[in-house]
Amino acid sequence: MAKVIILGSSYSIPDENHENTHLVLIGKERTVLIDCVSNPILRLRQAKVDFNQLTDLILTHFHPDHVSGVPLLLMDMWLMGRTEPLEIYGLHHTLDRIEDLMGFYDWEHWPNFFPVVFHRLPATPLTEVIDTTELRVVASPVKHLIPTIGVRIEFPQSQKVLAYSCDTEPCSEVVELASGADVLIHEATGASLGHSSAAQAGEVARQAEVGSLYLIHYPTGNSKPDGLVGEAQATFKGPVSLAVDFLELDFG
Ligand SMILES: [Zn+2]
Repeated sequence: MAKVIILGSSYSIPDENHENTHLVLIGKERTVLIDCVSNPILRLRQAKVDFNQLTDLILTHFHPDHVSGVPLLLMDMWLMGRTEPLEIYGLHHTLDRIEDLMGFYDWEHWPNFFPVVFHRLPATPLTEVIDTTELRVVASPVKHLIPTIGVRIEFPQSQKVLAYSCDTEPCSEVVELASGADVLIHEATGASLGHSSAAQAGEVARQAEVGSLYLIHYPTGNSKPDGLVGEAQATFKGPVSLAVDFLELDFG
């Protein structure tokens, strides 16, 4: 059994129904949080995921709407008596800043802190992040305002594949990550520097020949995201949906 739960689908400004974009990947042995915003304990509880089962955290880039929950995650795990290690993956740019951030909280003086293992990833395409019998994650640098990775997640048991663009302009790295994937989750903030429109997300889905496309990281609040699906359908003929908070995708 492997599934992904969307914990947030909004761009940088969330609303009552859409938290900042982040997701959790749940397998039998590993539970992997991809980005960490707001108070992760609360969000995971709402999604009925046991907070203590988290084994890994992948941080895509050091923007507040993707990493601001890290200090609370680490502090609350510690206060709840965690002893198991937590593996954290990201580019040097991201993890250097996370360590600096935790340094401001003097975390080295928090007694009996559980082991946190930082895995600094090179900024090279298709870098291996996690490789187990139940899931394989690779990351590639994408085209955002600061160093950022997108990911491809393969589920060997069901042979299914999920790709997640993260924050990016349309780029060949995402097409490669998503090549032949069953599902592509692509951002749709709007056409601007470092971001993509829904139509551009559809174009990437078409080039990568994916099975279906979910749009994420889209404007919420007063803007109505309803038109985005039609915009993406103009460039991609497969199924297109809006990713919404607490949506579950089954990967067998
Ligand atoms: Zn960003």
